[in-house]
Amino acid sequence: MAGTVTEPTARTVTTLADGRELIYYDSGAAVPRNAVDRRPLDPQAPASQCRLDPATGDWVTVAAHRQARTYQPPAEECPLCPSRDGRLSEIPADDYQVAVFENRFPSLAGAPAGVPGDASDDGLRTAGPGAGRCEVVCFTADHDASFADLDEPRARLVLDAWTDRTAALSALPGVRQVYCFENRGAEIGVTLAHPHGQIYAFPFTTPRTARMIAQATEHRAATGRNLFDDLVAAERADGDRVVVAGEHWTAFVPFAARWPYEVHLYPHRRVPDLTALDAAQRAEFPRLYLDVLRRFDRLFGGGRTPYISAWHQAPAGQRDELALHLELFTIRRTADKLKYLAGVESGMDAFVNDVTPEDAARRLREVAR
Ligand SMILES: [Zn+2]
Repeated sequence: MAGTVTEPTARTVTTLADGRELIYYDSGAAVPRNAVDRRPLDPQAPASQCRLDPATGDWVTVAAHRQARTYQPPAEECPLCPSRDGRLSEIPADDYQVAVFENRFPSLAGAPAGVPGDASDDGLRTAGPGAGRCEVVCFTADHDASFADLDEPRARLVLDAWTDRTAALSALPGVRQVYCFENRGAEIGVTLAHPHGQIYAFPFTTPRTARMIAQATEHRAATGRNLFDDLVAAERADGDRVVVAGEHWTAFVPFAARWPYEVHLYPHRRVPDLTALDAAQRAEFPRLYLDVLRRFDRLFGGGRTPYISAWHQAPAGQRDELALHLELFTIRRTADKLKYLAGVESGMDAFVNDVTPEDAARRLREVAR
């Protein structure tokens, strides 16, 4: 999508040996990216399916082919490090800043042959092809770094890459929602230690987003106002759960946080997705986000806190009410205890949180430095 990469970000598009797309993002002047993928790769033929649970209305993706994917390889076999010293990885170049490529083991792939739901027979077994796209976003060539170690220009480059991919993937036929996220830490189930995130382009609206839109629609009917506008204004006015606020973004622990430490980061001016952020919002985001990530790492004595960082973006055709925001949370509740999703959470979707959101916000304010 021309024009969505914010200057001075340069983008170089190439393909891997099996035809998957790889995109390099560079700050400033474009760096020549001529390296060719010399691995003997066979094209993958992923065959997943999206099925609708008739009891809940939630979509489930069934992707049985992913069982063979790379699982915690030794560092010298990392597929996300640059290709160096005769060792060939997913990144043919011998160095890079930010790189995005199509996942070799995608849950969703291919152009949709009809929107899921059209294949229904009796309304109880609604299914469709698992069409869409899964991408990997490498934040840095440095295997041992993490997002919190990036400097502001690099975090900004990642934001530009997320934005560019959101624009490109949203334009693919059949894509309903673009989801940029990061899982960090083996405790979360991360299979590759190299600092990276992922992007899913779903052929359906995800369950959590669908619920948020339903809530916002009800709020609109009851008040005439946008739910997220009211929510952000109320948290800013209250202040009790605010962790850090800038001129254009505020990070706060939600009133009904589900996780021991959970922070939501909203731009003050509501936008539906990353492509709609203005220059001032883009400029401020890296500092605020890095600040919150570093606080997470200070919570439990300086180790790397496992977390999930999830961008919520409006789906296609439902862009009026949902506000772009980032939800960051950790499953760690003390230095040596994890929060597991057991019977109450996994069985009933009813969370029990052992830390009050106000205490969590106070702790996160205390670990500012
Ligand atoms: Zn690596």
